[in-house]
Amino acid sequence: MTVEHHLQASGDGQGPAAGPAGSDGKGIASLSATDTLATWPDELAATLARARIEVDLDVLAANLAAVRRFLRPGTRLLAVVKGDGYGVGAEMAARTFAAAGADALGTATLESALRLRRSGITAPILVFQPPEPPLLDFWLREGLQATVHDAATLHALSQRAVALGVGRPLAVHLEVDMGLGRGGLAPGQVAPLVAGAASLPGVRIEGLYTHLPTAARPRLALRLLDRFLRLVRDLEERGLRPPLVHCAESHLLVLAPYAQLDMVRVGNLLYGYAPRAARRAGLAVRPPSRLVVRVWAVHRAGDMTPGYRGGWARPGTPVAVLPVGLADGLRPAREARHWGDRMVILGRRLLGALGARQVLGASTAPPGPRVRAGHREVPLRGEFMMNHCLFDATGLPLAPGQEVELLVSRLTAPAHLPVVYLRGGRPVAVAWPQRQVLECVAAGTATAGPGGMAGGDAPAAAEAPAGAGDGQELRPVTGAASPGAGAASPEAALAPPVAGGPAHPDEETMG
Ligand SMILES: *Cc1c(COP(=O)(O)O)cnc(C)c1O
Repeated sequence: MTVEHHLQASGDGQGPAAGPAGSDGKGIASLSATDTLATWPDELAATLARARIEVDLDVLAANLAAVRRFLRPGTRLLAVVKGDGYGVGAEMAARTFAAAGADALGTATLESALRLRRSGITAPILVFQPPEPPLLDFWLREGLQATVHDAATLHALSQRAVALGVGRPLAVHLEVDMGLGRGGLAPGQVAPLVAGAASLPGVRIEGLYTHLPTAARPRLALRLLDRFLRLVRDLEERGLRPPLVHCAESHLLVLAPYAQLDMVRVGNLLYGYAPRAARRAGLAVRPPSRLVVRVWAVHRAGDMTPGYRGGWARPGTPVAVLPVGLADGLRPAREARHWGDRMVILGRRLLGALGARQVLGASTAPPGPRVRAGHREVPLRGEFMMNHCLFDATGLPLAPGQEVELLVSRLTAPAHLPVVYLRGGRPVAVAWPQRQVLECVAAGTATAGPGGMAGGDAPAAAEAPAGAGDGQELRPVTGAASPGAGAASPEAALAPPVAGGPAHPDEETMG
């Protein structure tokens, strides 16, 4: 079955001519992809029938080019793909940025870097998480650039590099904490560490960096930047300056172009989140993704105001039901937890009750998600439940089966939703974050009893880096290994399947 086929099946049921209700009218269902997935899991097809995230890879590449144009000549660009590529999927984001000329990639965690390596990405990767003793070998075996916060780790890395006989010295970046408090060397510790590292085999100090709270506290960030630059000058004078000094992220590279130094580490801008200063400076980036959801039902509100909370639709209001919710990482814009928020909401209700809505106009539109169908767009008034979203569809002529676009400020946790990647307007790949359950099996044991640590792969991996077995083995619980999940052991097919548990523990109470 083709991608096109599946997406049409998930469309409005009127065939490609009708198209989805996308903003540009150029929806995915009107495309004629011929790509065929080798194995198309039924669950993926089922998920695509309710919602998908579309990510335009051309936009990601264009954003990188826009940032590149803004950089001073010679500045390197490290593309940050942490947080699963800011929600668009780290693997395809990394591939796209590497192909578009990023000099390096950055991940927050080791596991994210390992996943990129497993998917065949060979670009330099700087891991922001510092290595800890049981995990050191991963950096060395996979050639991951290490962030180091102390002398002990540097010495341990050097020892392991020698023991493993790693050919090229491991590239290390020292992180200095200028006040953010997330970890790092104190400024005074840098010079002695750099000086001492010169004689350590197997490691090479490639970089020195810091991370500043620019977005939230720009003036403080600029003061800290000054202190960092003073440290760099001091190192320079003593002949201890590492080759790559970097500190600027998306905000700082715009706010203070002189902070671009040897390299910038860019996340937000690449994903279309531009600080106002960027737009003023002519640095234009666009959001690459959109969340497309198929309407399940539309009905008129009865006498009881719909929803758990209620209070957002009057009798007779058209109410649309969407099959996405909290479980998909969607959150209400803002929760009225503080009395200030409550006052604002109360004020709006009062004014609404007095018929003042028209007078107030668009400026009082509640902050938060919006919903778009065709060329119409309204604020999303309603509520998210575990697996549902109910909203007031006034102003949107919706029918069941139609597709709408949910405009949410950030897609940070699209945990269950498939991502459809487009290039040249055509689907080229689908990512589907599947949670595979692995059973812990002691060496020589036929099957482990139920209730083992299924899914707890981190501790076992920590003890046995890169597959060095020490008596514990993890293997898929079910015989049907997902495509790309690695080769299942032959016995895995014989392992008893897990009994079907509840889809979500909270479903009963919250859904
Ligand atoms: C997240 C992060 C960045 C990127 O920040 P953006 O604001 O998204 O550009 C850079 N460096 C480090 C260490 C980070 O954690």
